[in-house]
Parts: sequence; C-alpha cells; structure tokens
Amino acid sequence: MSREKQGKKWEKNDYLIFCFEIQDLFVTIFLIFVTFYGGMNMGDCIFCKIIKGEILSKKVYEDKDIFAFEDINPQAPVHVLIVPKKHIEKSLDATGQDKELIGSIFMAANKLAKEKGIAESGFRLVVNCNRDSGQEVFHIHFHLLGGRKMKWPPG
Ligand code: AMP
Ligand code: ZN
Repeated sequence: MSREKQGKKWEKNDYLIFCFEIQDLFVTIFLIFVTFYGGMNMGDCIFCKIIKGEILSKKVYEDKDIFAFEDINPQAPVHVLIVPKKHIEKSLDATGQDKELIGSIFMAANKLAKEKGIAESGFRLVVNCNRDSGQEVFHIHFHLLGGRKMKWPPG
C-alpha cells in the first residue's frame, strides 16, 4: 500500500528510494535491450552462420579459434577469407584480449599461402574496416589474396 494511502507523507528518503527504483528499472530495460539487440546481430551474422555450418562454404582451414573458407566472389585466383570464430564486428573492436587470436590468424594465413602455392610469388592480406574501406560483412575477416600481380595503391 502506498504511503499516501497509508496516510503518511513522503519523506526525503522515500523520494531517494523511489529514484533508485526508477533508475534500476531503466538499467534493467537497457540491459535487456542490449542483450537482445547484441544477440540478434550475432544471430544474423552471415560469417557466424558459416562457422556454425548453417550456411555452406568451401572450408580450407579450421581450428578451435579460426575458420577459413573460399570467398564466394573471388578477386584473385586465390581468395580466402580467414575469420575468428569469436564474433568481432571490425578490426577497431579488437582488444588486448584478442592479441593471440589475431596472431594466430597471421599464422593461418602463412600456412594457407604456402598450401595454395602463393607464398613465394607473393600475396596480400587485407582487412577492411568501416564504410570507406568497403567493409560489407561486419564480422572481422582477413582476405588472403594471391595468384596474380597486384596493383598499388589499391582501388
Ligand atoms: P568485406 O567487403 O571486406 O566485408 O568482404 C566481405 C567478403 O565476403 C566479400 O569478398 C564477399 O565476396 C564475401 N562473402 C560474402 N558472403 C559470402 C559467403 N556466403 N561465402 C563466402 N564469401 C562471402
Ligand atoms: Zn559473426
């Protein structure tokens, strides 16, 4: 029963408690929204689906942290995408905790370049980040490109 109905007046402390309760409610709503929205984004991520096998791909490498597959629209005779299994939207979002993971991706790229026969002729490892780079898929990925002479500067 409210204080008014009980016939008691609201005191300063009651207002404070009321404000904290409202604040808690907003924080809870915000957390539910963030959890739902974040989860939804990951659920919609095409590369997460490829990693889980929900979308077919031509896998060329996999270990506990990394998945690599042929690009569907190759820009060179060899065009492989190397992605971490962890959903990181873009290179800007990588943190100190991801240092080892990013290093492993470079190791996987070297291994794949050797296997694909482009290690000695040369290859390019490209990460697009945000709009001006042309990033289309917001799950960080490394393009391993080779098998033809590349131009510089890139377009
Ligand atoms: P980016 O522009 O850096 O985001 O590159 C995204 C790359 O993902 C492009 O090279 C696309 O061709 C490639 N891609 C998009 N969908 C698929 C898919 N289902 N399988 C393989 N590669 C894909
Ligand atoms: Zn993802």
